[in-house]
This record gives sequence, C-alpha cells and structure tokens, in this order.
Amino acid sequence: MHSHRSVVLASRNPGKLKEFREMMAGLDVDIVPLPELAIPEVEESEDSFAANAVLKARHAAQHAGLPAIADDSGLEVDVLGGEPGVRSARYAGQCASDEDNLRLLLYRIACTGAVRPAARFQCAMAFVSDADDPAPVIARGTWEGFVVMEPRGRNGFGYDPVFFVPTHGCTSAELPPEVKNRISHRARALMELRRELSAMLRPRSAATA
Ligand code: IMP
Repeated sequence: MHSHRSVVLASRNPGKLKEFREMMAGLDVDIVPLPELAIPEVEESEDSFAANAVLKARHAAQHAGLPAIADDSGLEVDVLGGEPGVRSARYAGQCASDEDNLRLLLYRIACTGAVRPAARFQCAMAFVSDADDPAPVIARGTWEGFVVMEPRGRNGFGYDPVFFVPTHGCTSAELPPEVKNRISHRARALMELRRELSAMLRPRSAATA
C-alpha cells in the first residue's frame, strides 16, 4: 500500500493552503494546515525572508512531528532603503492593520519626494524534513513593480492596492486573483520549490524503481 506523506504548512491562511495544494498536486504529499495541529505562533525575528521562512518551518516541524513548509514575504521599496522588507506585516506596529501599514508606507514615501518609486515583492519558501534538518530547501520569488500614491483595486491584501505591475498596467489589487496567483512573488517561489521538491518527493514506487 502506498500512502501520501504529510507535510505541514506553517500558515493559518486558507488562501495560501489552497494555493499550495494546487501547486503541489501530483507530488506524493498531503499538505496539512497548521490550525488542525494547534501550533503556537512563532515570532519572525530574523532579518531575511529566507531565515524567517526556515525559522517558521522548523517551528512547525517541531510541533507537528512532520516535514514542514513555510513562507515569508514582504515589500521592498528602494527609496526607503528596502523598507518595509521583513517588517512588512508589522510596519506600523505589532498589531497594525493592512491599512495602517499602507498609510505609513505612503507617508514615508511622500517624505522622500519620490513619485512612483521602484519596489518589489519578495517571497522565500523553506522546506525542512524535520526540525533539525541541516539542509533546508529554500526557494525564492521576486515580483518587480513600483508604488503608486493612490490606492486602486479591491482584490488581494496588504500592499496590493499601491503595487503597480508594469507588465499588466494596473495595481496587483486590480488583477483577478487567478492572474496574480500565476505571476506573483509567491507563485514564482512556489514553482521553484515544487521543482526542487519534485525529485525528493516523487512517488516512492518511482523513487525505488
Ligand atoms: P508574512 O505573512 O509574514 O509573509 O508577511 C507578509 C506581509 O507582507 C503581509 O502582511 C503584507 O503586508 C506583505 N505582503 C506579502 N505578500 C503580499 C502580497 O502578495 N500582496 C500584498 N502584500 C503582501
């Protein structure tokens, strides 16, 4: 008998879970969401997306006793020296809302006098086979654009209303979700992770053939 390998996804976001399940279809894995296992939150204390992703993956693996995948992402604005970066989710404070963060971002940009400053979304994904895995698999994705000072669009979350996507001529909050999920930083990182994991996680029958 052949059973799927469970991998815990270190996220409570149902949207992310759906995306991961779709992207990992065909691999010998069953993506288990974090809430089912009641794992406490970990503080994202590192100073790079990759280090935070590994930290979150190890934490989830340790609590779940399973291999784990985690991601960490954020927006980098050149004129702000790469801010908000790894602090994207809590730019305006520990309990800040998306709206608070966005308002602070526009205020800080306005203070520099920049118009349409270059920016990019970054995403790092990490897979660990267990909490002490000495060689996590790390995949990255980048999405280049610039910031517009007037929020536009209702889709997505976070900084989407002010992230202008030059290839599509609109903000990422104006893109249909299925388009964003094909071209975003997260989609690119996920595609790379899938490539890297496909050799490791192919069906056991094929692996032993
Ligand atoms: P994470 O959940 O720790 O990776 O934090 C991600 C934060 O970066 C979010 O709270 C958003 O502020 C920002 N962010 C990451 N990806 C996106 C995106 O696709 N659209 C808008 N904001 C994003």
